[in-house]
Amino acid sequence: MTTLAIVGSGIAGRSLLYALARERKLFEKVVLLSSDDVTFPCTAHSTAVAAPRGVTRGHSALGDLLVEGLATLSEHVKSDRPLGLTPITQHNAAMENIDLFSQRFPGGTIASDFFRVPTYSAQEPAFLVDTRAYVDWLLGEARTFYGSRLEEVSELVTEVGETSPVTLSTLHGRKFSADRVVFACGTYNRFWKALAPDTELSTSKPVQGSYLEFHNVPWDRPSFSLTLDGDNVVWNLALRRLFVGSTSEDVGHLLPPAGELRSLHERLTSRLWLEIPAFEAGVIKVGLREKARRRAPYVVPHGDLTFIGGLYKNAFTLALKIATDLARQFP
Ligand SMILES: Cc1cc2nc3c(=O)[nH]c(=O)nc-3n(C[C@H](O)[C@H](O)[C@H](O)COP(=O)(O)OP(=O)(O)OC[C@H]3O[C@@H](n4cnc5c(N)ncnc54)[C@H](O)[C@@H]3O)c2cc1C
Repeated sequence: MTTLAIVGSGIAGRSLLYALARERKLFEKVVLLSSDDVTFPCTAHSTAVAAPRGVTRGHSALGDLLVEGLATLSEHVKSDRPLGLTPITQHNAAMENIDLFSQRFPGGTIASDFFRVPTYSAQEPAFLVDTRAYVDWLLGEARTFYGSRLEEVSELVTEVGETSPVTLSTLHGRKFSADRVVFACGTYNRFWKALAPDTELSTSKPVQGSYLEFHNVPWDRPSFSLTLDGDNVVWNLALRRLFVGSTSEDVGHLLPPAGELRSLHERLTSRLWLEIPAFEAGVIKVGLREKARRRAPYVVPHGDLTFIGGLYKNAFTLALKIATDLARQFP
């Protein structure tokens, strides 16, 4: 039996660990190495909705993958009953470029339920992800299957040495050895680009996203997600938590564009009936998404190493499908 190390404990790393357990893949040892001391986890700073957003099969490779990703997720919710995934309605609405928009979102109607002026809106089934609850559940399932064979290490991996087996060194001088290593470090996969030259690791880019988070919002309406001309409102009734966002900037830092968020908040407040709390009541959250070529996710095998990433804005739709496909390749 072989040993496996997974580096990165966001939605990509945990989905893989879970998928390996669900596929009953046996290892002598599995080590999950992850640390947020220096790097910044995107999964914990995400509005986290999985929705089709008008994508249908037969138009692009990414579109087909998104359709399959959602089908995998729907089946997962039905058969595995994970914590942290709630079926919701995604409302897609537009006040601008309605002709084009209604081609992408056919079957909509002119609605005034949310909107101060009648607005074209189309609904689709989606999932709202409570990221903390869901990634904890994924890990819990893996712990149950692997028991003492699973080691969780809170360390930053800084160096890859020998191969066959691979030696990993950490910031605090610890060393780990594994027959196979999967890196699922989100936008920090780029750090390892010298190990796998001429691959997506060299071309992927960090793209900052930010949103406002409001706590203890006294709304009674069921959880939902609404996108109006690219602006989002995501409501989680169980947590009484509201997200309003999100910005998107091709920068690699975490300083949020507060002015842009303020304008976005004003725009939504003036267009919707919803009693969105005052801007000042919100907490600004920021994350760095990893955008790869054509916005597509990647799985890069390189000897004993594999890199998964590029989940960009579709992480919760794609992670389980990618993880399941990869897990099935393990003996
Ligand atoms: C504002 C915003 C809104 C978003 N909304 C959505 C949405 O609605 N739907 C959706 O599907 N996606 C959304 N996303 C995108 C999604 O959140 C990300 O694509 C996803 O979380 C990336 O997951 P990951 O596991 O690849 O990376 P991460 O979550 O970043 O996990 C990587 C982990 O590895 C650790 N790490 C990195 N390097 C090392 C190392 N060398 N050693 C040890 N540990 C390391 C990091 O600290 C981190 O914990 C959004 C993102 C943002 C910022």
